[in-house]
Amino acid sequence: AIEALLRRHGFHFSKSLGQNFLIDDEMLEEIVRASGASGRNVLEIGAGAGCLTNVLARSAKRVLAIEIDKNLIPVLETVLQPYKNVTLVQGDVLKVNLEQLAQECFGGEPFDVVANLPYYITTPIIMDLLENERHVDSITVMVQKEVAERMQARPKEKEYGALSIAVQYYCDAKLDMIVQPACFMPRPKVASAVITLKVLPERKVKTADEKLFFHLVKCAFGQRRKTLMNCLFHLGNLGFSKEELAELLEELGWDTRVRGEALGLEEFAALTDKIAQKKASI
Ligand code: SAM
Repeated sequence: AIEALLRRHGFHFSKSLGQNFLIDDEMLEEIVRASGASGRNVLEIGAGAGCLTNVLARSAKRVLAIEIDKNLIPVLETVLQPYKNVTLVQGDVLKVNLEQLAQECFGGEPFDVVANLPYYITTPIIMDLLENERHVDSITVMVQKEVAERMQARPKEKEYGALSIAVQYYCDAKLDMIVQPACFMPRPKVASAVITLKVLPERKVKTADEKLFFHLVKCAFGQRRKTLMNCLFHLGNLGFSKEELAELLEELGWDTRVRGEALGLEEFAALTDKIAQKKASI
């Protein structure tokens, strides 16, 4: 039915906007179930032809659906016409005033994010939602399977990196399901996964300086093959000599050849505090 509707509107899929629509009814129901969005406020990013929006609207309290593609708005208006609890906004999720839209739609109440994300901007969207503390309780999203693995990766694992740390700093992550390409129209080349990130009431670790913490994480993974000391020296812009950095790592009881990929959240927090303390004492 959705195919016929799209054809009637003369719609052509845009690869660059990550348009792979989820057309498997069971999978759509499963995602909404896994999100726990029943009776709650939901932000959907990238509503597409409204397949997921439609299922969400039936059980959520209110749905705020954002879609960038102007050509999909008439399709969405048709599909969502029976629902009074859906607000449709045409725009780029990274440019709209999400704060204001959420305030208008949800009246300041917390909300959940449920989305089959456009894969080309998965990380910026997730980072925006987490860093800006937008009243988000949970995020249930379809992403590339490999990205879901990165979000859950632990120190020393191949997929471990800055995204793993950011996600685990703010959330508990749980893999809900793997989704095969056949569930989409058109079919993507890679397998996908649905992951739920429950935003924690408090950060997983405490640090003296959150900005510095993320700066150090970014440096440590900036050049994976280099040691932490080299990354901090070349990318850190911290004002320390190599000798000072070596001393600092030794004070933490670490090998000076340690790599960023071996450090967990606690270690990055300890490193942050040590550096903040040294900088203050200069
Ligand atoms: N929710 C639909 C579904 O499950 O079938 C569509 C999902 S599709 C993977 C991603 C959708 O995000 C597309 O409709 C695309 O046009 C939209 N999109 C891409 N970039 C966007 C952006 N920057 N802001 C809002 N929507 C975007």
